[in-house]
Amino acid sequence: MSSKRSAKTPPPAPEPLSPLVDAHTHLDACGAEDDTMLHAIMDRAAAVGVQAVVTVADDLASARWVTRAAEADERVFAAVALHPTRAGSLTDDARTEIEALAAHPRVVAIGETGLDLYWPGRLDGCAEPATQKEAFAWHIDLAKRTRKPLMIHNRDADDAVLDVLRAEGAPETVIFHCFSSAPEMAHTCVDAGWMLSLSGTVSFKNARDLREAVPSIPAEQLLVETDAPFLTPHPYRGAPNEPYCLPYTVHALAELLGGSAAELARVTSRNARRVYDLP
Ligand SMILES: [Zn+2]
Ligand SMILES: [Zn+2]
Repeated sequence: MSSKRSAKTPPPAPEPLSPLVDAHTHLDACGAEDDTMLHAIMDRAAAVGVQAVVTVADDLASARWVTRAAEADERVFAAVALHPTRAGSLTDDARTEIEALAAHPRVVAIGETGLDLYWPGRLDGCAEPATQKEAFAWHIDLAKRTRKPLMIHNRDADDAVLDVLRAEGAPETVIFHCFSSAPEMAHTCVDAGWMLSLSGTVSFKNARDLREAVPSIPAEQLLVETDAPFLTPHPYRGAPNEPYCLPYTVHALAELLGGSAAELARVTSRNARRVYDLP
């Protein structure tokens, strides 16, 4: 009998893999409308070994939400910024508010910021590259002033991201979230001492450049993330993603590297606790 899975059906819970930290997720977009739903998402995650998550803002309302969520659940930490595609909303008032939120002790990174050269011209209201660069530079400066890690979103923008980082001077800790670039970019980032966070895309067999790049990343510079509700790992691509799906990605990564998933879980959790300064 065939059981045809609808794209809307959530993936089943994976075998537990502990300890894990989801280095980049979006709990508001996962549907955490109130504290009960927030705790339920984190309970599902904890049941498979995901002990902590960093939930990331993409606009101002989301920045307020992630900060409050981090107060409401001790397993949740926050990152605040305006997403590159929304860089046009970085008014003086928005800057003042993001700065205030960034000072909150449960806000552990400035992100996601960076450059997205895929969406301009494809998405109504998407910030132009020049606007994105200015906002990226401002967030870099904020990361330095708060001494918190800079969390970068890079879509089709390897060279431009490196240009802005070099021109402004990179902060002490830089994290490329959902790293998806080719080996050359991986080498540049590794040499600079930056962290590369891998999402469900490492499980996609057609992500050839990325799968070629991954073995050259030293274990100490690796993080793992869901970027939920997006980028659900193989074989559940298209289904809704949540932090509890992280073990699927870690298993895919272990398979790609020919190593142990348990060891990867330990190392990436230790890395996440170090770079985000988690308790
Ligand atoms: Zn992103
Ligand atoms: Zn994201």
